[in-house]
Amino acid sequence: MAEIPDDHPRHDSLVTRHRIEAGVEQGITSKQGLIAQGRGEAFDYLLGEETTPTADGAERVAAAHLLLADHPVLSVNGNVAALVPGEIVALAEVTGADIEVNLFNRTEQRMQRIADHLRDHGAEDVKGLNADATIPGLSHERAKVDGDGIYAADVVLVPLEDGDRAEALAEMGKTELVVDLNPMSRSAQTAAVPIVDNIIRAIPAITEHATALRDASRDELRQIVAEFDRGAALDAAEQRIRNGDFE
Ligand code: ATP
Ligand code: MG
Repeated sequence: MAEIPDDHPRHDSLVTRHRIEAGVEQGITSKQGLIAQGRGEAFDYLLGEETTPTADGAERVAAAHLLLADHPVLSVNGNVAALVPGEIVALAEVTGADIEVNLFNRTEQRMQRIADHLRDHGAEDVKGLNADATIPGLSHERAKVDGDGIYAADVVLVPLEDGDRAEALAEMGKTELVVDLNPMSRSAQTAAVPIVDNIIRAIPAITEHATALRDASRDELRQIVAEFDRGAALDAAEQRIRNGDFE
């Protein structure tokens, strides 16, 4: 990988591209993942390539949800594994969440590679490999989840999720925390907490908030959750894109 100078104006974006490229080479990320990354990048560019105050607020609400949950699960796909493997492990540790590999284009080989990659980054238990339950309303391969993982979860963090599956999970009554740079995507529109931010900034930010909130009372956490306005969060992101409306 060519050295990217620290002072390059698009440094983070270039590093991200290289990580996705490496993910494809290692058999972690699908080729489709390259296209998804391109889509995300375009939105990040329009949003100013930084965490907006609204996104930071949503990240704090997501942290509160994960801390309040009985059974929180972090869903990991090929892009997430390539971009933020260690960061996902850190978030799971702080919140007590399970990690589950969940792929749109599921192949056993890619499932295994992603699980190994997460373990290399410190994950102890990785779910998803012996998927024995199905999400209702989806075709078989896309519906597979672990019975004691996503299927049983009350709160699920689904970064960069396909719109269909996000909708099906919401139908099951799960509280969905979605990281997606496109506020108009069906995934973001379906989420209880839409986080319109780049995954490389969003996951560390949620971890930071969860660490700060670790000693907060359940009442305090419930209040953070209750005060969140998902429609306003989506509107703020869309206005920023459409009007360059920087809060
Ligand atoms: P819809 O949700 O409207 O059905 P989709 O889910 O089928 O669309 P994809 O291109 O498959 O669309 O999903 C990728 C989504 O992930 C896009 O909305 C894109 O903006 C978002 N995305 C891609 N890379 C990142 C990233 N690094 N951080 C956050 N979001 C990202
Ligand atoms: Mg989507």
